[in-house]
Amino acid sequence: MRLHDNGALAGALQSTHRVVPVFVFESGLIAQSDTSAMHVQAWYQALTDLRTSLRAIDSDVFIATGSIEDVLNELHELIDFGAIYSHEETGNDWTFQRDIRVAKWCEARQVEWHEVPQNAVIRRLVNRDQRQPVFRQRLIESAVIAEPKSVPLPAEVQQRCDRQQIPDHTDFYHASEYDQIEFGQLQAISETQAKLELHSFLTRRGFGYSGGISSPNTAFEAGSRLSAHLAWGTISLRAVHAATIRAQAGYREMGDDTGKQWGKSLRAFSSRLHWHDHFIQRLESEPDMEFTAINPAYVPLQYEDDPEKLNAWVFGKTGFPLIDACMRCLQATGFLNFRMRAMVVSFAVFGLHLSWRTIHPPLARIFRDYEPGIHLSQLQMQAGVVGINTIRVYSPVKQILDQDPECEFIKRWIPELAEFSPLEIAASDRPRLGSYPDPIVDFKVAAKAMKDQIFSIRKSDFGKEASAKVLEKHGSRKSPARRRK
Ligand SMILES: Cc1cc2nc3c(=O)[nH]c(=O)nc-3n(C[C@H](O)[C@H](O)[C@H](O)COP(=O)(O)OP(=O)(O)OC[C@H]3O[C@@H](n4cnc5c(N)ncnc54)[C@H](O)[C@@H]3O)c2cc1C
Repeated sequence: MRLHDNGALAGALQSTHRVVPVFVFESGLIAQSDTSAMHVQAWYQALTDLRTSLRAIDSDVFIATGSIEDVLNELHELIDFGAIYSHEETGNDWTFQRDIRVAKWCEARQVEWHEVPQNAVIRRLVNRDQRQPVFRQRLIESAVIAEPKSVPLPAEVQQRCDRQQIPDHTDFYHASEYDQIEFGQLQAISETQAKLELHSFLTRRGFGYSGGISSPNTAFEAGSRLSAHLAWGTISLRAVHAATIRAQAGYREMGDDTGKQWGKSLRAFSSRLHWHDHFIQRLESEPDMEFTAINPAYVPLQYEDDPEKLNAWVFGKTGFPLIDACMRCLQATGFLNFRMRAMVVSFAVFGLHLSWRTIHPPLARIFRDYEPGIHLSQLQMQAGVVGINTIRVYSPVKQILDQDPECEFIKRWIPELAEFSPLEIAASDRPRLGSYPDPIVDFKVAAKAMKDQIFSIRKSDFGKEASAKVLEKHGSRKSPARRRK
């Protein structure tokens, strides 16, 4: 979804004088439970911008709907192409199976398929120690690829493109009982917007990054907000790294307190860019984690999976103000900062006894930045089923005091609470608050029951053995001291 630093496009342009940029609205993908109208609308926005950029250099993008094989057949009849260039993708099982079908299609017609890496995720990784050098080589040492000055489109394709409209979510919308997206408040997704957001972050917003990303009152501005752009490919991770390194050098030269604060913020930001690939690598190496806990010892955990509790959680009606404000904010904006995402998942699993698998699709559908590898890794971590991390159960009451003491965020998303004082809203044994629901569970009792289950597995021999294997395969290679720091 970009022209800048697009390795697939650059590869195609190097090998031939006729190139067709293609985007397919795949009906099978749109029907997946983790794809929503909000995601399709992001493709629409990104494509509209991409088409404008391509038309400015007398080119275009070929847009089709349906199955990938039908689209490839149609294009192959139109122009007898000899190669396909794409980026490597770490998606869900559906996209993996789709790729197998594409490989077969190519083989049957002797079409070459070149897949280009776009981050430091390694296909068929054998040794985890490869990761650091590959990261350096692909993301720091290789130069960012400039935007092409021309993308020569065959005339017969150009005529087709001229007539093509870009479909949007209203053409495909499959209603779900779990999303009520208000499209007006979503982050705009396009290459143009990604560049603006990176620039405003590195020159202004990022100053408050360190210390500003935990509270939902500040994180929307202090965080980079690049996650959705990275997920849909409107910017490359390498371009973000390169710009960050340049900015860091500039702030270092300042040498004053402002420069130091910027340095601290951008160091914290850079380490999160590493996490991006670290977690996607987990899914790449362990594709079954879409369906089962990465640590087999935790598969027998018992959940209730009560549909009424799921519904109350998804729509922000649990009677826990910060949880409900977060879920209502997600439904409206598609965004939540890391700490609040971790808290709503921990609440769903420990407080409501919903399994990470049950909450995966409804949550994925309302994340504007849905990235399967990060999403599944984080869901499993927060649910305590990876077995190598500290079990963190966020108290939904303490988090109000820590992150929203004046209840600004809560009152913004729960208008029923506007009249009440922070003391009333954050009281652990709170009174009835007008029409706002009473808590649907006794959080402390429920969380203890789930923690007891998890700790009995953690202490068992099988639990310890299985966790040692997970640590060996997926754990961070940083020494514990560096991690603590
Ligand atoms: C349950 C749960 C689900 C999540 N699902 C997703 C998801 O689907 N897509 C997604 O991009 N992030 C996900 N995250 C990680 C994180 O919350 C978001 O990346 C971050 O909040 C996005 O805001 P930002 O772009 O302002 O991030 P910044 O803080 O500015 O970070 C910069 C970039 O680093 C990466 N990053 C930041 N934090 C993490 C992290 N913990 N793990 C991996 N990469 C990280 C992202 O690409 C992000 O854009 C999830 C976290 C949790 C707890």
